[in-house]
Amino acid sequence: MNILLLGSGGREHALALKMSKSPLCEKLFIAPGNAGTAQCGQNINMGVSDFQQIRNFCLENAITLVVPGSEEALVNGIYDFFRADEALQHIPVMGPSKEGAQLEGSKAYAKLFMQRHNIPTAAYREFDESNYEEGVIYLQQHSLPIVLKADGLAAGKGVVIAFSHEEALSEFEQMIKAAKFGDASKTVVIEEFLTGIELSVFALTDGHSYQILPEAKDYKRIGEGDKGLNTGGMGAVSPVPFADATFMKKVEDQVIRPTIQGLSDEGIIYNGFVFFGLINVGGEPFVIEYNCRMGDPETEVVMPRLKNDLLELFQATIAGELKSQIINVDERAASTVMLVSKGYPESYEKNKVITGIPTPTDDQIVFHAGTKLQGEEVLTNGGRVLAITSLAANLSEALAHSVQTAEKIQFEGKVYRRDIGYEFI
Ligand code: ATP
Repeated sequence: MNILLLGSGGREHALALKMSKSPLCEKLFIAPGNAGTAQCGQNINMGVSDFQQIRNFCLENAITLVVPGSEEALVNGIYDFFRADEALQHIPVMGPSKEGAQLEGSKAYAKLFMQRHNIPTAAYREFDESNYEEGVIYLQQHSLPIVLKADGLAAGKGVVIAFSHEEALSEFEQMIKAAKFGDASKTVVIEEFLTGIELSVFALTDGHSYQILPEAKDYKRIGEGDKGLNTGGMGAVSPVPFADATFMKKVEDQVIRPTIQGLSDEGIIYNGFVFFGLINVGGEPFVIEYNCRMGDPETEVVMPRLKNDLLELFQATIAGELKSQIINVDERAASTVMLVSKGYPESYEKNKVITGIPTPTDDQIVFHAGTKLQGEEVLTNGGRVLAITSLAANLSEALAHSVQTAEKIQFEGKVYRRDIGYEFI
């Protein structure tokens, strides 16, 4: 297979490495990629939503599979773009159709979908300019805290948990009246606050059958003890100890199967990853969100634990034969610790020289996120810079190994958390 992978984060490095190890992989291109993906294939300077350029590249390089890493190209309709163009029709895109990607692209769409298929989720209502006044009354009477969600994509910032009615009303007004997130907040979902511990569950689906991948938990706050600002993710662990067989059976019966069945019943084309953002409320799973791709940094612990050949799984997905596959998981625990640039998630400096990245071993690999090559040197090129993934007999050993390496790798302004997975250690 000649593969084009779209993206440039730690997730894409983890996917690139996994695919590059498959005997089915002939050529691997990553657009735009980073210094890590450059070791797995060839980086191409091309934007993930520049469909016209992607089209030309695919034809010129006899690409036989396109794998979008992030939601951007999927929500923008890359699947439909390929299907609609006669010259591209033979090239599968590993991801949902534009409609399927709405599960992530529109929170109101996802909520209605869950309602239609009896999938457990927080009680909610949807408001926009047309029923704004009703929304104000609804908020005034709502119990605290109140969760407000901009309908569309808002770079992970569109969810506000308000602890007073004043705060909720002010956010509501800013989202709808002042278009705080542009078109993304024209519609707002207001939902009940759920108390519990979150986890991420992943499935690969061909739109009818599915396979469940190892689950993970990510740590979003910048500071240890889950303090401070939200980030794209400071680390992750897999497995998640409370996701035992009993809990996972509920997840499969109440969430995964009804979701895939719902997609199939509604004729929504979906070939790719489904990310279920779940919360465990007293032993019962509730869906907080769907994503139409893998998570970052979860991929950096999920892929190293997945023993299957990823390209074989993709082939089975394309052929609609996922049912016949058996998922094999490394029994070891994985922990990833993200090294970030000082100042992140606010402003930070780039172009710092990175030294001390160890060569990968069977129990540790450093995935690149915001890095770039300059001659022989690796430089920082983003807020999240490197993800250090370790595999060990338990989470505590895996974390200790990642932290040890985090200390050895050097770049100016290096910041990381030493407590990833702390509740389970
Ligand atoms: P991200 O980009 O971080 O994946 P998002 O912007 O798509 O997130 P959500 O995942 O829906 O938004 O919500 C972000 C976070 O807000 C969740 O991870 C969770 O911690 C919290 N949250 C969302 N909905 C609820 C809820 N109903 N009850 C409690 N917490 C919630």
